Amino acid sequence: MRIVVLTGGIGGARFLLGVRAYAREVGAEVTAVVNVGDDLRLHGLRICPDLDSVLYTLGGGADPQRGWGRVDESWTVKDELAAYGAEPSWFGLGDRDIATHLVRTTMLDAGYPLHQVTQALATRWQPGVRLLPATDDRLETHAVADLDGGQRAIHFQEWWVRYRAQVPTHRFVFVGAESAKPAPGVTEAIAGADVLLVAPSNPVVSIAPILAVPGLREAVADGPAPVVGVSPIIGGAPVRGMADRCLAVVGVECSAAGVGGLYGSRASGGLLDGWLVAEEDATTVVPDVTVRAVPLRMTDEAATAAMVRAAVELT
Ligand code: GDP
Ligand code: CA
Repeated sequence: MRIVVLTGGIGGARFLLGVRAYAREVGAEVTAVVNVGDDLRLHGLRICPDLDSVLYTLGGGADPQRGWGRVDESWTVKDELAAYGAEPSWFGLGDRDIATHLVRTTMLDAGYPLHQVTQALATRWQPGVRLLPATDDRLETHAVADLDGGQRAIHFQEWWVRYRAQVPTHRFVFVGAESAKPAPGVTEAIAGADVLLVAPSNPVVSIAPILAVPGLREAVADGPAPVVGVSPIIGGAPVRGMADRCLAVVGVECSAAGVGGLYGSRASGGLLDGWLVAEEDATTVVPDVTVRAVPLRMTDEAATAAMVRAAVELT
């Protein structure tokens, strides 16, 4: 069996731990198509927060408390940059993490495309699943917000980390999306999948930028594989993070039904055949989508693998 997962960073990475465990049990192959909309260049370094969250989590090098970055991290470089007054200072760059960005940036500057760089980084982390960026091209999520007395587009990371999503916001823009191409292997993986899972990632800023790559939404919606999504919203709230803020910007109710409706049914031009929701949300209805309620908290790998099994069996 071939499983393809569309995923963002932290929530998606935890989900992938369960996908990998399930896949080992049943002998399946896993490809993760990862959001790059959060990527940015800082201090000359190319940073890919979602790819790194997935690499570190699956490779056993993530900080479980913080949720992002490396375990046993130190912050000497960040402190030294601050001593120079080097901006921006709002983005946390740990010393161990910086090594990843140095290797990545050097390879990118030497002309290697992001999917090959990711493969090279994965040689160290051995994530046990195939990791593909949604695109090798520049695709950056920006938020259009009221700032400094006018409307300004700022990078998603600045909106999320610096402003904590607390500024009046009109919309998100996926800069570069129209001319982005799926990274090599992505369309083929989707076309060859036996089942496609949408991780319980942020629908607005993790999953939507993947689907904004021309051709990807169509590949998923028109592909042969059944598509099952897993709700990141339980009982009307995100399990962690600020997905509620992002949903408010796009005018979607923060609920399992709201997100299910945003994805929509494949039967009517949307994405989903199945929608896995939490037991608290058992009454959720999404027109033309099979909804099933199971425990949806990713407390450990076994609980997450059980979620994945339920998702696969929904198809
Ligand atoms: P990011 O890119 O690092 O923001 O991470 P993702 O977009 O992949 O995932 C963020 C989402 O994961 C949030 O909206 C959370 O609600 C969701 N999430 C985190 N933990 C859990 C969990 O245990 N269960 C479910 N269902 N969703 C979760
Ligand atoms: Ca992210």
